[in-house]
Amino acid sequence: MIRITDILDKVAEYSPEADLSLIERAYIYSARVHEGQVRLSGEPYLSHPLEVSGILADMNLDEISVTSGLLHDVLEDTAATPKEIEKIFGPEVLHIVSGVTKLSKLRLSSSEARQAESIRKMLLAMADDIRVILIKLADRLHNMRTLQYHRSEKKKINIARETMDIYAPISARLGIYWIKKELEDASFKYMLPDEYERISNLVAKDQAEREKYVETVKKYILKKMGEANLKCEVLGRNKNYYSIYHKMMSQNLAFEDVYDIIAFRIILDTIPHCYETLGLIHSLWKPIDIKFKDYISRPKPNMYQSLHTTVFGPYGERMEVQIRTWEMDRVAKSGIAAHWGYKEGKQVDEGVSRMYTWIQEMVENQENFRDPGEFMENVRIDLFPDEVYVFTPRGEIKTLPKGATPVDFAYMIHSEVGDQCVGAKVNDRMVPLQYELQTGDVIEIVTQKNHQPSKDWLKYVKTVKARSKIRQWIKTQEKDRSISLGREMCEKAFRKERLNFSALIKTDEMNRVVEHFGLKAVEDLIASVGYGKITPLQVVRRFTAKAESEEKRESVFNKLIGRVRKKKPKGGVVVKGVDDILIRFGKCCQPVPGDSITGYITRGYGVTVHRAGCINALKMNPDRQIEVEWNIEKSDTYPVKIYIRSHDRVGLLADVVSNISKNEANILNAKTETQENKIVNSVFTIDVEDTEHLSRVMSSLKKVKQVLEVKRIS
Ligand code: MN
Repeated sequence: MIRITDILDKVAEYSPEADLSLIERAYIYSARVHEGQVRLSGEPYLSHPLEVSGILADMNLDEISVTSGLLHDVLEDTAATPKEIEKIFGPEVLHIVSGVTKLSKLRLSSSEARQAESIRKMLLAMADDIRVILIKLADRLHNMRTLQYHRSEKKKINIARETMDIYAPISARLGIYWIKKELEDASFKYMLPDEYERISNLVAKDQAEREKYVETVKKYILKKMGEANLKCEVLGRNKNYYSIYHKMMSQNLAFEDVYDIIAFRIILDTIPHCYETLGLIHSLWKPIDIKFKDYISRPKPNMYQSLHTTVFGPYGERMEVQIRTWEMDRVAKSGIAAHWGYKEGKQVDEGVSRMYTWIQEMVENQENFRDPGEFMENVRIDLFPDEVYVFTPRGEIKTLPKGATPVDFAYMIHSEVGDQCVGAKVNDRMVPLQYELQTGDVIEIVTQKNHQPSKDWLKYVKTVKARSKIRQWIKTQEKDRSISLGREMCEKAFRKERLNFSALIKTDEMNRVVEHFGLKAVEDLIASVGYGKITPLQVVRRFTAKAESEEKRESVFNKLIGRVRKKKPKGGVVVKGVDDILIRFGKCCQPVPGDSITGYITRGYGVTVHRAGCINALKMNPDRQIEVEWNIEKSDTYPVKIYIRSHDRVGLLADVVSNISKNEANILNAKTETQENKIVNSVFTIDVEDTEHLSRVMSSLKKVKQVLEVKRIS
C-alpha cells in the first residue's frame, strides 16, 4: 500500500513549490472522517483515497488535485460537510470534491438512457473543471484494481461494462493511454473471462522466445543508431490483451496474425533526430506501407505525437516502430494532464485549448438530442476517433473523424455554410458531397443562398455537429409541413359539421380538446393530425363531445390498424429506411442475432447479410454496402457451425449431442473424426436463436468431460 510520505515525495519532486501542508492536512482529515470504515478487501477505507491520490501524483497533477483525491469520498460516505471542507481546504478543493461526489451518485445501469445520462454529466463536469474527471478516472482505476472483492458476479460485470463503455474511451480521448489500457484489460477480464484467459495464455506461451527476439532487435537498433550518432532509448512492449482481442475480432484475424503484438519504441532528444531515425529504420527494413503516420507534424487532437511505421522485420515478420521525443513520450503517458501540469489556474496552451473546444462542442450539441440512442451514437463517433486532417483554402488545419465528408467540413466551418452547401472542391477539383475526406486534402465549400440541407446527407455525415444540425432542420421542416397539412384536414372535417375550424382555434372548448389529447398547444394538435397520430374525426368528435362509445370504438380500430402496420418484416433483419426487401444470409459467415452485421446489395437478389468482420463482405464494393439491423422474432433460428476438439472416451459423442439438445438447439449436421493421438475433431451445424443462445450452448459444451476446445467457425 502506498504511504502518504511517498505521495508527498513525488509531488515535491515534480512541483518544488507545491503547498505540501495542504496535502498533509487532507490526509489527516480523511483518516479522521473515514475512521472505522472498511473496504470490501478488508483494508481500512483510507487505503482507497490514498491510492487514488497516488495515481493523481503519478499523473503529475497539482496539489489541489492530489488534495481533492484524498477527500473525494468524504462528502458521500462520511459526516463531513461542504462548509467544513471549504473552511479547511478552500473553495477550489470544495468545488472539485463536490463535482466528483455528484458524478459518484450516477448509478450505473445497462440501459442506454442511463449511460447517455452518465456521459452527459461527465462532459458537463469536464467543461467545468477537467480535474474532476481526472480524479474520477483515478478513482475508477483503483476500484477496478480491487474489483475482485465484490461479492456479486453481476455487479462486477456491470461495473466492468460501464468502465469499458465510458471510462476507457474518455481516458483515450484525453490522451491518457496507460489508464485506458489498464481499464480495458481489467474490464475485459470480468466481461469475457474465457477470452481473457485464452489471450493471456497465448501471450504467455512463447514469452521467453519473444523476449529473446526483443533483445536481439533492440541490440541491433542500438548498434545502428550508435553508428549514426543518434542517442536514444529503445523499448519493446507487448500490446495490451484487450487490443489484441479487439483486433482479432474486428478484423477476423488469428492470434498469430495480429502482427504488432510487439511494437518497438525509440525515444530521442529532438524532433530532427526522430525523422533521421525514421529514415534509418526504413533503410534497415522495408516499410510495408508507403504512407507511414506522421503524428509529429499533425498531432492527434488529444495532443499525441509520434512517428508510426510498420516494416518487414529481421525475420520477415511485420514489426511496428514508434519514434518520438522524450517530451512526446511524457504527453503520450499522461495526455491532457501533461499539459495541465502543476501550474496555477487553467492556463491555456494550444493543445489544452483544442481539447476544451471538443468538450465545449459536445456539451453544446448534447442539448440537441432528445433520444439517448441518438446521443450515444454520436458520442461514440467522437469518443472513438480515427481522425483525418484537412485544410481550409487558407491553410488552417481541421480535424475530422475518418470517413467524414465535405458536408461535415462545411458544418464545422459554420452552421450556415453547412445548410447552404451545394458542392465542394477538394484540391481544386469538384467532388460529390459524399466524398470521403483524406488527410492532406484542401477543401473549398461551394454555397448557394437559400439552399437547404438534404435528408440524404444523414446517410454519410460523420460528425455530431452536422448530424444534429441536419436532424434539427428536418424536424422543423416536418413540423411546418404537418401543421399546414393538419390544418387543412381539420378545416375539412369541421366544415362537414358546419363549423369553422379557424374561428374556433382560440376557444376554451378547443383548449379542452388539446388537453384531452395530452398536448400543450393547438399547434401541437394540428401537427399531430398532420403526422397522422390523431385523426381529424377524433378532433371533431371530441369538440362536439359526441357519444364516447363511438370514439372508443374508433380508437380500438386505430390500434388494430396500428398493430397491423407495425408488423415486422420477415427474415429477422430490417434494412434501414427500406421496406419489403429480399433478405438472404451469407453462407460464409452464418450471422445469428446479436452479431454485428452489414448488408450488401446484390442486383436482382435483394440484400445479403454478413457478419461485420466477414472476409467475403470486406472484399465487396463498399458502395453496395447498406446498413441493416436485427429485428428479432424469437421464433426464428439460424444455422451456425461450431468446432469441438476433445479427447476420445466412451460415450463422448452421446454426451455432446445430448448437451446440445438439452440447450434446445437443433443439430442440422455433424462430422466427427478421430486422430491417431486420440484427439477427436468434430464440426456441428446447429440451429440457434441468437448469440446469447449460442454462447449458452458453447459454455455448456465446454463443461463436458474431456472436451478441450469449443469455438464458432465459418
Ligand atoms: Mn472512491
